[in-house]
Amino acid sequence: MAARIEKALETAEKYVQENKKTVAIAAGVTSAALLATYAYRRAKTAVPARGPYTVDTLPTDAYDAVIVGAGPSGAVCAYYLSRGAAKVALLEKESFPRDKYCGDAVCTPAIRILEDMGVLQELIANNEAHFADAGGFVSPSGTSYIGVSKKKLGQAACCAVKRINLDVRVAKNAARAGADLKENFEVSGATFDKATGLWTVTSVSGTVVRGRVLVCADGATSRLATKLGYCTEPPKGVCTRAFIEGGTHNTNFDGVCFYPRWSLPGYAAIFRHPNDELNFCYYLIPCGKDGYCGDVKESDLARLHNDAIKYDPFISKSIGPNAKIERMRAASLRLGGQGLKTSYDDHLLIIGDAAGHIDPYTGEGIHTAMMGGKAAAETILAMRQTGDFSARSTRQYESKWRALYGHDFWMSKAFAEVVYRCPILLDAVASEMQRKGDAMMAKWAEIMTNMQPKTYFLRPHVAIPLGIAVLREFIDQKILGTKKDNYQMLPKDK
Ligand SMILES: Cc1cc2nc3c(=O)[nH]c(=O)nc-3n(C[C@H](O)[C@H](O)[C@H](O)COP(=O)(O)OP(=O)(O)OC[C@H]3O[C@@H](n4cnc5c(N)ncnc54)[C@H](O)[C@@H]3O)c2cc1C
Repeated sequence: MAARIEKALETAEKYVQENKKTVAIAAGVTSAALLATYAYRRAKTAVPARGPYTVDTLPTDAYDAVIVGAGPSGAVCAYYLSRGAAKVALLEKESFPRDKYCGDAVCTPAIRILEDMGVLQELIANNEAHFADAGGFVSPSGTSYIGVSKKKLGQAACCAVKRINLDVRVAKNAARAGADLKENFEVSGATFDKATGLWTVTSVSGTVVRGRVLVCADGATSRLATKLGYCTEPPKGVCTRAFIEGGTHNTNFDGVCFYPRWSLPGYAAIFRHPNDELNFCYYLIPCGKDGYCGDVKESDLARLHNDAIKYDPFISKSIGPNAKIERMRAASLRLGGQGLKTSYDDHLLIIGDAAGHIDPYTGEGIHTAMMGGKAAAETILAMRQTGDFSARSTRQYESKWRALYGHDFWMSKAFAEVVYRCPILLDAVASEMQRKGDAMMAKWAEIMTNMQPKTYFLRPHVAIPLGIAVLREFIDQKILGTKKDNYQMLPKDK
C-alpha cells in the first residue's frame, strides 16, 4: 500500500515537472477565479459606505425602527437595538403577561441569548425554567430509550419555560433597555413614504407611529407581511398544546418525543415545567402531498391529540388515568420560510415566525426567532451608521440568518421527508441508543435542540454508524423478523 502511494506521488511529481507551464496556467486561473468569487461576495454583502438617512435626519417624533409584535423575535430585536442606542418602538396588540400556545422548549441558542440579556437569571431566580436532563424518544415501532444527557453535553440541551412567563420578561427587558413598548397596540397597516424614507404604522384605533425601518415580527399568520405582499400563503403546519397539572400524572422524565407512525413526520412531545407541571403537544409537520402533513391533515389534529392522551400505549401511560389536563389549544407553524417571497426589502425586515423561521423538522422556532431578532438588530444598527436603508443594506440580515440557521432548513425538510417515507430510520436510532446508551442519546439531543445543525447527520463519523444501524434494523425487522411492532393503539373504550 505504502509503495503504491509512493509511486502515485512520484508520478504526480513527474507530471508537474514535465508540464510546468500548464500547471502554472491552471494554478493562475484557479486563483483568479477564487479571487473574483471573493470580490463578488464582498461586493454583494458589503454595506454601502454612505446613504441619505444619517442619524440627524430622523424627525424627533420618529423611531429608528418600528417593530410590530413583541414575541421573542420582536422583543429580542428591540433589546439589542436599544442596547446599541437606537430609538425603537415595540408594538404589541396584547398586554403582558399574555399566553402563547407553544411547547415551551427553549433550545441552547435561545438560552445563550436569554443569558446575555439577563433574562435567564430572572427566570431561574423565579423558578420559571426547568432544565432538561432525563429524556429520549419512542420510535414508530415502539423502540424506546430514555436516558440522561446533561453530563455528556456538559449542559442541559434545552429548558422549559411557560410562554406567559418568558415573553413578558423578554419584552419588559427590552423596555428597560430603552425600547418604547406600546401594549394594546394592534397594528392595522403600514405605508412607506419614499420622499422622507419613513414608514407610518397605524393601529386599529387610529394611533400612528413613524419610523425608518419596519420590522414585521407579528407571528406565524404574518398578517402585516401578507398585507404588504411579502407573504403569499397561510402557514401549513400546526401544533396543539395542553398543560397537565403537577402531581396528577405518571411522568418522571423531563422531555420525551413520541413518533406514532400514523402521523409521521409529526410527533407528540411531553416537556416538564417547574412544579411538576407538564406540557403535552402534538406537532403536524407539512410533508408529502401539498396540504398534508404526511398522511394526516390539520383536520385530524384534535382527534390525534385526544386519542394520544387516552389510547396511545406510551403517551397514555406517561400521562396516567388521573391527570388533570387543560383543554386542547392549537396554533399554526410556518416552517422553513414557507410562503415568504423575501425576508427583506427597502427599509423593511421580516423576522421570526412571520418569516417562517421555524425548523422544518422539529417545529421549534423560539431560538431562531431570537437569533433572527438579534441579527436584524445588528443589521439595523449598521445601517444607522451608514444612512443607507435600501435593500442593498437590509439583505445583510438575510445573509446573517442564513449563516446562523437558514442554511440548515433544506436538510431539516429532507429529514422530515425521509422520516415520513422510511420510519425505520427512527427505529434504528432508538435501537442504537439502546445499544450505545446516553452517548448516542446526547448526540441526538444535540442535533434536535440545534446545538448542532442537521447537516451533522452527513458527517462520516455520524452517517456511517447510522447507515450500519439502519441496515441492522432492516435485517432485524424485515428479514429475520426478530423485532415486532410494539406501537399499537390501545382498544377504544366503547
Ligand atoms: C403549539 C406550538 C408549539 C410550539 N412548540 C415550540 C417549542 O417547544 N419550542 C420552540 O422553540 N418553538 C415552538 N413553537 C414555535 C414558537 O412558538 C415560535 O417559533 C415563536 O413563538 C416565534 O416567536 P415570534 O416572536 O416570531 O412570534 P410570536 O411568538 O407569535 O409573537 C408574535 C407577537 O406579535 C403580536 N402581534 C400579532 N399581530 C399583531 C398586530 N397586528 N399588532 C401588534 N402585535 C401583533 C402577537 O400578539 C405576538 O405577541 C411552537 C409553536 C406552536 C404553535
